[in-house]
Amino acid sequence: MINQQKFQLLKQYFGYNSFREGQEELIDAILQGRDVFGIMPTGAGKSICYQLPGLLFQGITLVISPLISLMKDQVTQLNDAGIYAAFLNSSLSQNQYFKALEYARNLKYKIIYVAPERLLTDSFLSFAMEAPIDFVSVDEAHCVSQWGQDFRPSYLKITEFIARLPKRPVVGAFTATATDVVKKDVVDILQLHNPVQVTTGFDRKNLYFEVRTPKDKYREVQSIVEKHAKENGIIYCISRKLVDEVTEKLAREGYSVTRYHAGLSDAERKRNQEDFIYDRCRIMVATNAFGMGIDKSDVRYVIHYNMPKNMESYYQEAGRAGRDGEPAECILLYSGQDVRTNEFFINNDRDNEELDSANLEEIKRKDRERLKKMTFYCFTNDCLREYMLKYFGEYKGGYCGNCNNCLTKFEEIDITELAKNILLCIQETNERFGMTVIMDVIHGSETERIRKLGLRNNTYYGTGQKHSIVKLRKVMQELQAKEYIVSSGDEYPVLELADKGIHFLGSDEKILLKLPQETERLASKSIKKTAQSEQLNYAAGDGDLFDKLRELRGKLARKAKIPAYIVFTDKTLLQMSTMRPKNKAEMLQVAGVAEAKFERYGEAFLAEIQAFQADRPKAVAKIKIKQSL
Ligand code: ADP
Ligand code: ZN
Repeated sequence: MINQQKFQLLKQYFGYNSFREGQEELIDAILQGRDVFGIMPTGAGKSICYQLPGLLFQGITLVISPLISLMKDQVTQLNDAGIYAAFLNSSLSQNQYFKALEYARNLKYKIIYVAPERLLTDSFLSFAMEAPIDFVSVDEAHCVSQWGQDFRPSYLKITEFIARLPKRPVVGAFTATATDVVKKDVVDILQLHNPVQVTTGFDRKNLYFEVRTPKDKYREVQSIVEKHAKENGIIYCISRKLVDEVTEKLAREGYSVTRYHAGLSDAERKRNQEDFIYDRCRIMVATNAFGMGIDKSDVRYVIHYNMPKNMESYYQEAGRAGRDGEPAECILLYSGQDVRTNEFFINNDRDNEELDSANLEEIKRKDRERLKKMTFYCFTNDCLREYMLKYFGEYKGGYCGNCNNCLTKFEEIDITELAKNILLCIQETNERFGMTVIMDVIHGSETERIRKLGLRNNTYYGTGQKHSIVKLRKVMQELQAKEYIVSSGDEYPVLELADKGIHFLGSDEKILLKLPQETERLASKSIKKTAQSEQLNYAAGDGDLFDKLRELRGKLARKAKIPAYIVFTDKTLLQMSTMRPKNKAEMLQVAGVAEAKFERYGEAFLAEIQAFQADRPKAVAKIKIKQSL
């Protein structure tokens, strides 16, 4: 019985025919009255795991969430799907807040989102003590742990709140963070009762990963943005200044762009964020201050203008792409300067000043270690996804087919002699220079600097003449990644020989290096291969109709003052453009079209599709003419 209802509700309210990995197990457990703990990556679909049971419980479901913007977004989505829901947080005026509580008392809402700070206030408690609360769902549950990256003291109130309720509700916890200490903390601190724990893999198959080392980062950004002209993307920069610069350049060249960083007024930040969410601006240029709780599902690319400080940050930020499960690109633009900037931040970090110096040093040591792992991600020629998953303790093995390294044809070359020359050159110059100078010496460059330093007389000058600078840089990065040489010094980093390098000079060890065959590239199987799970890809949709449907969506969204992806996601529109439903029944077959959505928007989209069909002969004729020219 419940089983049937579950699927019916999934279709009716959310428009989906099947559950994703982990969802059903969690929902079943909750409905059987068990506590649960769901650990799923961003975009995996955690919300449905508590929203759907919320519909089946007699009483009220409380969702505790730290993020005001996320609450608002989810409540808008629920309301749009025909589910009564509300949020209670500091964005409401006193008046609005009491009004909402009154409605809640009268059981107007099935699902109520509440900020943790509210839980123990008199007004909220007096409501909660009388209300039939069946289920409490804790979103971003890692915030209870001091070991996580986003500890929030107010989360500690949750346990007391639950303990004070007259009847203990079912408790669910959800997070995308999964280190072992944090997991244990969540279960202990929230006092979950023998929870059903579900962990789904961290792999996000629809995301394509790539690292580039361009000469001109801005031009590189421009070419990526051009490729995604009609799509939404985020560009992360390491500093506010850079955010301003990149935004300004893009704006000057006519791109639809906005910015976000902590140096802006609250009002501007809010406005810019909304411009991006509501599709009034296509491109968001931001520091890492942007994104916490941004639920925009149709971000098609995330560019990192600079390498972030660690893999955790990178995966979190890059993971804001493609939350709808459709193909999306995550491209990191690396330069050696990024390493130095991050080192500077670590050395000058004032966040933990209350700690004693031993602890402080220990934290810095760990930060440097993490930075090193991040740097090696930029250097590796192996599968980027594998590198990442391994870092997070998950092993997939081998070839993902959807990262640049998997799609590049490599040749393995013997760089033993070149490596020896590089090391000897570093030695002969007394470890006083950085990568550029050493590279120029080996390459035999005729620069002003080399002449001034008298390095044309170096024994190894020009010994690597036949290799391109690009290749030499790769070799030097490899030597760093494999720890033959180390880069040290804060302001002017210099290269030094590590123990392993010294040992290598006196041995007959060989070093092999995988290098891209510079022009060749395997045909991108990426998109088809990775979108398998969702059986859809952009190439399969009908571009013209898709554009028309998007336009219509934009119009409807503006009218209803909600973000476009809440009306329908890109994926839903794509499917519509291929299936071309002719009536309500066919329309309801499209994934993402639920009953309530159809009532609201269905006819408009049917009409648009019909109009397009009627136009179709003309379109075909046009193509024919073109071909015959
Ligand atoms: P999370 O909270 O885990 O980051 P969300 O709950 O926001 O992820 O879900 C991400 C996207 O996946 C949303 O667009 C949601 O509608 C979609 N989604 C969730 N469950 C399903 C499902 N069973 N089938 C198809 N799409 C789904
Ligand atoms: Zn790969």
